[in-house]
Amino acid sequence: MQNTVHIIGAGISGLSAAVRLANAGFKVHVHEATQQAGGRCRSYFDAATNLTIDNGNHLLLSGNSYAVAYARSIGTEAGLVGPKRAQFPFVDLATGQRWQLDLGDGRLPLWVFDEARRVPDTGLLDYLALMPLIWAAPGKRVGDTIRCEGTLYQRLVQPLLLAALNVDPPEGSAGLAGAVVRETLLAGGRACRPLIARDGLSAVLVEPAIELLKGNGASIQFGHELREFGMSANSIGELRFGEDTVAIGPDDAVVLAVPPRAAASLLPGLKTPSKFRAIVNAHFRFDPPRDQPAILGVVGGLVEWLFAFPQRLSITISNADRLLELPREQLAQTIWRDICKAAGIRSELPPWQIVRERRATFEATPEQNALRPGAATNRKNLFLAGDWTDTGLPATIEGSARSGNRAADLVLAMRRA
Ligand SMILES: Cc1cc2nc3c(=O)[nH]c(=O)nc-3n(C[C@H](O)[C@H](O)[C@H](O)COP(=O)(O)OP(=O)(O)OC[C@H]3O[C@@H](n4cnc5c(N)ncnc54)[C@H](O)[C@@H]3O)c2cc1C
Repeated sequence: MQNTVHIIGAGISGLSAAVRLANAGFKVHVHEATQQAGGRCRSYFDAATNLTIDNGNHLLLSGNSYAVAYARSIGTEAGLVGPKRAQFPFVDLATGQRWQLDLGDGRLPLWVFDEARRVPDTGLLDYLALMPLIWAAPGKRVGDTIRCEGTLYQRLVQPLLLAALNVDPPEGSAGLAGAVVRETLLAGGRACRPLIARDGLSAVLVEPAIELLKGNGASIQFGHELREFGMSANSIGELRFGEDTVAIGPDDAVVLAVPPRAAASLLPGLKTPSKFRAIVNAHFRFDPPRDQPAILGVVGGLVEWLFAFPQRLSITISNADRLLELPREQLAQTIWRDICKAAGIRSELPPWQIVRERRATFEATPEQNALRPGAATNRKNLFLAGDWTDTGLPATIEGSARSGNRAADLVLAMRRA
């Protein structure tokens, strides 16, 4: 008989588990509380700009092997686009200085030996001083591990770790920062090519997964919020959705791929991260200048990354709780001023949209990192997935895809047992 698995939550973690298990021959049922799949990684039509935009500009790197494998498994790897070499142009808005970090396309970080390719005004010793991050103990902060000042910090380490951890780097977990450095900078340019879902997050990472699942006979129910588990002995016996209840057979499995707050309320006593940080994205309907790079790192201003899409310039600001209460119009004006400087534009404020995701990621501090549970639970047929589970990475698409894979592997192991 075909084994059945219920996936609760259709974010990237739930979808990656669902696709893997559908491909392994499981009868898959996906239950999503909202009317749209994708969770924190989704696109929607925005009336203010008259464009389809993403809830956030999501940057992947070519070394995000699970995320790229997930895209491959749903047939959209080619939809993740980026330059052939890992080149990152930067501008400093305070000084007007521009430079390009060129990590090349090799497997070793040889660029640190080449003055023309590394960050201007930095020397080899600055890079060697980052080594303690690579083997940092999990309880340490970045600020206890490396010197968080100086040119290399301001121009590379701070932007990279701020984007990856979504906290001010000195307070961030050195263990998580180390994982990021090991899997990106230390793995050479081949692992650092920036990749963007240029046609939109939903078109590249979400809708094709739904189509593939449906094609495999899976069911996807939207507006189907899990309210409660019915327990039977040491396993899940029922899924209670309010209006309806689904019985879970002895060989069936459940993957809970919801955010930590939802998981904690469904499973009282589960330890989860409890603090979160915001990310602000702003989108402007404006044709990018012809020579505008797809991604521009920005330091010395409010804006941190500037993305150029067809008909649109978009920016990202991480660790953005300080901007949550600011009037939207004022924020849009300030951001547009930064964009004009960064892109060399002179223009009035074009149609815009600001998306403030309050709980974009869990707070990647050592304390919150210590609260992340593994994928197995004390219920033998229940497994956890999500960027907040103990993936060893900060809250990222890579972590989500990895967690979905791991939960799927445990379901597969249960079938074999
Ligand atoms: C603005 C922003 C920018 C980001 N930028 C990047 C980036 O540049 N690079 C990167 O790698 N990552 C980035 N991230 C992080 C990335 O989006 C997340 O790590 C990833 O999308 C999380 O996926 P997930 O499946 O773990 O969780 P979620 O996306 O939160 O999915 C959980 C799903 O469960 C559903 N759900 C909740 N409760 C229930 C219930 N009771 N029953 C049924 N369904 C339920 C939710 O509706 C949701 O669809 C960013 C995030 C944000 C918000």
